[in-house]
Amino acid sequence: MKKISIVVPMYNEEEVVEACCERLINVLKSMDNYDYEIICINDGSKDKTLSMLEEIANSDSRIKVLAFSRNFGHQCAVTAGLKEVTGDVAVIIDADLQDPPELIPDMVKHWEDGYDVVYGKRKTREGESKFKLMTANMFYKMLNTLSDVDIPKDVGDFRLVDRKIVDQMNALPEHNKFLRGLWSWLGYKQYAFEYERKERFAGKTKYPLKKMLKLAGDGIIGFSTKPLKMCAALGIISIGLSFIVLLYSILAYIFNFGNLVSGWTSIMVAITFFSGVQLLSLWILSEYVGRIYDETKQRPQYIVNKTINIKNKNEAE
Ligand code: UDP
Ligand code: MG
Repeated sequence: MKKISIVVPMYNEEEVVEACCERLINVLKSMDNYDYEIICINDGSKDKTLSMLEEIANSDSRIKVLAFSRNFGHQCAVTAGLKEVTGDVAVIIDADLQDPPELIPDMVKHWEDGYDVVYGKRKTREGESKFKLMTANMFYKMLNTLSDVDIPKDVGDFRLVDRKIVDQMNALPEHNKFLRGLWSWLGYKQYAFEYERKERFAGKTKYPLKKMLKLAGDGIIGFSTKPLKMCAALGIISIGLSFIVLLYSILAYIFNFGNLVSGWTSIMVAITFFSGVQLLSLWILSEYVGRIYDETKQRPQYIVNKTINIKNKNEAE
């Protein structure tokens, strides 16, 4: 019998834990020919999420729990969950039921039809602020202009992935994983599964602007070196501009126009402009160097504090 593994990251989700597990279990039970496991990752929640998960997992060994020692972030939680997958196929889904579990059987059908990845593509996004939609839109545009792989718009982490690709993903050594980009990068036969994204079942978003910016940064820096090359373009433009200024001053001197004595303005403009360009370039460089530094430290991506129904390797991957 084939087995489906569900990966659910959870951070402060006490309002949805029960509903989430219940709906997932109902859907999975209705799929007669498949065995299943649900891997819940508690990403250092400060509320009752973990104790609620413990209760559910203790009464059903197919619910597995992995608890981090603190909040390591959504991408780390999914990464950790993927390492525990024992099924033939994995489905990554948010805990807040924005991505309806009832779609899983359809996604599995596409997998049975021969697709290796079935990714959810949001047709509509209910209950999300204009600001979020606008920034998300900008982010995808920027990412696709800058990066070399094609990362589809309106695609989140909700997707079904064949086991062999999960293994490939687990073998990638990098930290700061930007999963939705990496799935595209890995390739294979992919199917865009359109669906309507619902409103959060309960609770508030766990993705404040700061976390969104970090995700965007990982996406752009992780998938492109174009920003680095932009430094060169900026340099060339500014050198060009400085030549123009120089030419202007020479001409002004020879033909005696302009007011060279009070050249304070032009000097100030030049200084501020060039230091701006330099600082900007330095910032871009430092984003890359910072990430190189992160990778070389080889620190684990997350620390697992506790597991239920999973053998605790007490490792920190
Ligand atoms: N999440 C997590 N760690 C975090 C932030 C979020 O595991 O640091 C989980 C969260 O519990 C949810 C999923 O990631 O299951 C998506 O988060 P959320 O629904 O808040 O994001 P949004 O849908 O608003 O983008
Ligand atoms: Mg959500």
